[in-house]
Amino acid sequence: MSTAPRNEAVKRDWGHDASGCTILHIDMDAFYASCEIRRHPELAGKPVIIGTGTRSVVSAANYEARVFGVNSAMPVARARKLCPHGVFLPVDMDYYRAISHQVFDIFGEITDCIEHVSVDECFMDVSNALRIWKSPVDIARWIRATVYKRLGLTCSVGIATNKLIAKLASTNAKPNGMLLIPANRHADFIRMMPVRSIPGVGPSTQKRLEEYGVTTVAQLSQLREIDIIHALGSAVSGHNLYLAAQGKDERKVVVNAPEKSIGHERTLREDTRDARTVLNLLRQSCDATASTLRARGLVARTITVKLRFANLNYASKSFTMTYPTQSAAELFSHAKTLLNLILPRNDEKDLLPQFIRLAGISTSNLSAVSTTMIQDSFGDLFDDDPHTSHESDDSGTSATESKLSSTRSTLKSTRKAEKTLDDIRKRFGKDAINFGI
Ligand SMILES: [Mg+2]
Repeated sequence: MSTAPRNEAVKRDWGHDASGCTILHIDMDAFYASCEIRRHPELAGKPVIIGTGTRSVVSAANYEARVFGVNSAMPVARARKLCPHGVFLPVDMDYYRAISHQVFDIFGEITDCIEHVSVDECFMDVSNALRIWKSPVDIARWIRATVYKRLGLTCSVGIATNKLIAKLASTNAKPNGMLLIPANRHADFIRMMPVRSIPGVGPSTQKRLEEYGVTTVAQLSQLREIDIIHALGSAVSGHNLYLAAQGKDERKVVVNAPEKSIGHERTLREDTRDARTVLNLLRQSCDATASTLRARGLVARTITVKLRFANLNYASKSFTMTYPTQSAAELFSHAKTLLNLILPRNDEKDLLPQFIRLAGISTSNLSAVSTTMIQDSFGDLFDDDPHTSHESDDSGTSATESKLSSTRSTLKSTRKAEKTLDDIRKRFGKDAINFGI
C-alpha cells in the first residue's frame, strides 16, 4: 500500500499524444484489502484493515478505512482507535499471492517484458506489444477492464516514457484510475510534486535539500547539477536527482522473477532483551522461510535480519552467501552472526543492549532451483567431482579431511531432515512440527 505523497491537482487530462510512452506502471488498488473483499463480498463498502495483533502494524487498508486516517505501517492499536468500527483481518499472504499470480497472468498476455516490484505492482515495457496494439492507452484500458472482469479487482495505471513518471502517474491516478503523461509534459508534471515524491528521496536527502531551501521539485529544477551533487554529497545520486527534476529517468525495465524476497517476522508479546527469546524467534523465522522457499522451488543467496526496537526504530543487516540455499540451518547460522553485528554483546551474556519488539528474517536474490546450480556444502563438491575425490585419496585421511567429511554428512542429514519436515507438514499442517537447531 502506497503512502507516497499525491497531488490531486495533477489528476487531470495532460493531453493525448502517447508517442514514446512505452512504460506502464501498474499498481493494484488496496490489494490485500481488495482480495479480502473479493472472498467476503459482504465487506464491500466497509472499512477493511489488514493487521490484527495489538502490537502489530497495519499491512493494508482500503479507501473506506483511509478516510479515517488509517494508513499502512501504523500500529494496529492506533488504527483501532481511529476506526473502531473497521473490520480488522489477519494477513493471509498465501491467498494474496495466489490472486497475484492470476493478476500477473493477465499482464503476461500483453508482454513478458515485466519488472515485478511487489505482489501487486509492476513496470511493463510495451514497446514490442505496440506491434499488435494501437496505443499504450488501449493496453492500459484492456488490462484494467480484464483484471476487473476476471478477478473483480481494480488497478491504477500510469503511462509515460520512463519508470519515474509512470510510477508517479499511477500513484496520482489512484484509486481505479489511469494517467497518461505525454513526453512533452513530463517536466511540467513532476514540477508539481514535492521532492519527497521522487523514489529514493528519503528523510536524510529531504533534510539536506531543505537546507538549500528546496522542498518542491519546482525549486529543485532551478538548481544546477553541481549544486544538487554538493547538496547530496554524491555524484551519482546528484546526477539522477538532477535528471528526475526534469522528468527524466534512464532506468530500463528489468525483467525479473515474480518474487523479490521471502521472509517471516513476528512481533513479540512483550518487548524483551533476552537473547535466547530473540534467537528462538529468528530460528522460527528461518524455519518458516526455508520451508516456503522449498515449497516454491526457490533458493536464496541473501539473508537479511530485521529487528524493531521498543522505541519503534528499525535495524537490519544483510549477508550474501557464495551459493544459494533453502536450508533453515544454514539461514539460522547467518542470522545469529547478523544479530551479533546489529547488537554486539560484550561477552556471552544473554542480555541484549536494547529491548526488541519484533524480529525476523527475509531472503532475497531468489532463483528457481531448476535454473540454479546449488553447491551449499563442501560435501556436494566432493560428491560430484571425481577429480577432487581422487586428490583427497592421494593426501590420505588428514584431520581437515575428516572434519570436512563430518561437515558433509551433517549438512546432508540436515537437508534430509528438513525435507522430512516438509513432508510431515504437508500431511499434518504447518504447525505440526518445528525445526530444532
Ligand atoms: Mg498497490
